[in-house]
Amino acid sequence: MNVLVVGRGGREHSLVMKLAESSQITNLYAAPGNGGILDQAVCIDIDEMDIEGLVKFAKEEAVDLTIVGPENPLNAGIANRFHQEGLPVFAPTKEAALLEGSKSYAKEFMKKYDVPTADYAVFTDAQEAKAYIEEKGAPIVVKADGLAAGKGVIVALTKEDALQAVDDMLVSKEFASAGATVVIEEFLEGKEFSLMAFVHENQVFPMVTARDHKRAFDNDQGPNTGGMGAFAPVPDVTREHLDFSMEQILQKTADGMMTENRAFTGILYAGLIMTAKGPKVIEFNTRFGDPETQVVLPLLKNDLIQVFTDVLSGRNPKLIWEDASCVGVVLASQGYPGSYEKGATIPEFTESASTFIVHAGTKQEDDALVSDGGRVLLVGSKTPTLDACAKDVYELLEKVNTNGDFFYRKDIGKQ
Ligand code: ATP
Repeated sequence: MNVLVVGRGGREHSLVMKLAESSQITNLYAAPGNGGILDQAVCIDIDEMDIEGLVKFAKEEAVDLTIVGPENPLNAGIANRFHQEGLPVFAPTKEAALLEGSKSYAKEFMKKYDVPTADYAVFTDAQEAKAYIEEKGAPIVVKADGLAAGKGVIVALTKEDALQAVDDMLVSKEFASAGATVVIEEFLEGKEFSLMAFVHENQVFPMVTARDHKRAFDNDQGPNTGGMGAFAPVPDVTREHLDFSMEQILQKTADGMMTENRAFTGILYAGLIMTAKGPKVIEFNTRFGDPETQVVLPLLKNDLIQVFTDVLSGRNPKLIWEDASCVGVVLASQGYPGSYEKGATIPEFTESASTFIVHAGTKQEDDALVSDGGRVLLVGSKTPTLDACAKDVYELLEKVNTNGDFFYRKDIGKQ
């Protein structure tokens, strides 16, 4: 088979690493890929938002299946265009991707189908939004409706912060059209976890749970980032939580999307929080999470391309998960998620049998591998226990000279 992975981050490298294990793949392509992906796939210089370019490539190279990593092309309708051309793609249509692309749509959907989530209200008018905040008080959560790369959510601990967030979004238009509508949500308390599933119409095949760490610094301090590390599976998620999340959240959502004529195909990602009343949805993503994918896929024993083909053909892929744990810690450019320099030399890692490196913001420049993004790479380990994974990852990171160019969190996978 000829397979194309769309994207350039750690999630896509992780997908490529897993796909590269398959004996069914003749040609593995990534567009545009990164400095690590090019070791296992042919990187094609086509931007992930150049949908016509991707369609043309898939036709010319007789690509049998395209897998889309990031959310932006999904919301721009990449799956719709591939369907029009009769090109097989494992991704939701833009109508289905709205579950991630519009938080107000997702909330209305959950209300209609009785999927547990925080109480909320939707506003386009700043005065009305502020009156609602005055009435509800803090803590409260203010969210830009559209895609904002993880930056459009303000968990306001004071009323003043919440009112400021409304001004930033609805008055100063800091998030442009993504913030022209805001969702204001009840603050929920509890531990968070992510549950991803392979979905095709009403068939839902869940993966193992993961927990990511969004804040930049140790002990969940500092600004939100795209994710500084993750581990899987999450030991504090019980069988009961899992069954509830599968039946009351993922299955209900897949079924509801069919009723709405927005049948979902692709990866449905539920960001969940374990409240005193059970798991509730914090957010839906309509694609693989990053960095969760980097710690979930190494635990999958199946041939990943077979999984995609089975799910697309309505067959049960019979997922088998290794009885082990996985921890991944992101090495980020100094200054991230604020401004940072690119072009720093990537340190050399001496991997052991249990460790692995997933590239995100790296590129090959002449003979050197240099940084090309905020999140540069992820150091991962798979062993029988979380503790052993964390020990493994940090031993490797401590041996590396980061020259002050990079930083990483020191508390991931340590319970
Ligand atoms: P992503 O980058 O994953 O797409 P996002 O911008 O869609 O993130 P959310 O996942 O909705 O944002 O929220 C980011 C974080 O804010 C959550 O992981 C959670 O910690 C916190 N959060 C969001 N909603 C709530 C809520 N209702 N109560 C408490 N915390 C919340």
